[in-house]
Amino acid sequence: MKILRMNSVTKFYEGTRALKDLSLEVSESERIVILGPSGCGKTTILRLVAGFMAPEEGSIFISGQLVSQDGHIILTPEQRNLGMVFQDLALWPHLSVKGNIAFGLKAKGVQKQERETRIHNILQMVGMEGYSKRKPDELSGGQQQRVALARALVLRPRILLMDEPLSSLDLELNIRLREEILRLQEELGFTLLYVTHDREEAFGIANRVVILSKGRVEFDGTVDAARAHLTQ
Ligand code: ADP
Ligand code: MG
Repeated sequence: MKILRMNSVTKFYEGTRALKDLSLEVSESERIVILGPSGCGKTTILRLVAGFMAPEEGSIFISGQLVSQDGHIILTPEQRNLGMVFQDLALWPHLSVKGNIAFGLKAKGVQKQERETRIHNILQMVGMEGYSKRKPDELSGGQQQRVALARALVLRPRILLMDEPLSSLDLELNIRLREEILRLQEELGFTLLYVTHDREEAFGIANRVVILSKGRVEFDGTVDAARAHLTQ
């Protein structure tokens, strides 16, 4: 069974058509990167999958379950069991690192003992043990992204959605965090749906590349095939 299916999805914003009859099927544990220039509809795809809005036309299924269809949200974001690391979805500034990571676990009713264990383990996995009492403004940009990643992954999501999560970092840190995302994905086995406008970043992360152009899929295939397609 496909973990995600988007069937002939069309999305409008006040008359502008952001996605046009877009279909996409994602298998479990794939690492899909959606690559394309600013304004081509990448973030719109993630917002639709997350459940912040519904497509005017078409339907979306997650793990075989209908989550939205023809303008209606059927499952809310909380009911979809997804992880999100979005550019503009920052850490809560008034909460410590631990508080930020604990928030979602508390909301899901995970008991204190289990919370402590899971927070400890995930901080270790992202290399942030020892930082649990710090506030976000006492961390570097790269450290904040690690915490955002930990906050998403501690909930053990079926799919991790990432929207240009590394674009504000310098190249060296960008490459290091890419490697960590790959390592975490291998270790935890989530499906990754990752969005970027940066080719090298896309090729470094993906095992499948979807090139988006003006709200349509222009190409869908392996990293090698995507490279060839773009140098034609
Ligand atoms: P990307 O993430 O690839 O840069 P987006 O999905 O954000 O692209 O946007 C796709 C298109 O939809 C763009 O033309 C953008 O201007 C438009 N758009 C996005 N969000 C809104 C909005 N809230 N209101 C109106 N137009 C929007
Ligand atoms: Mg965007």
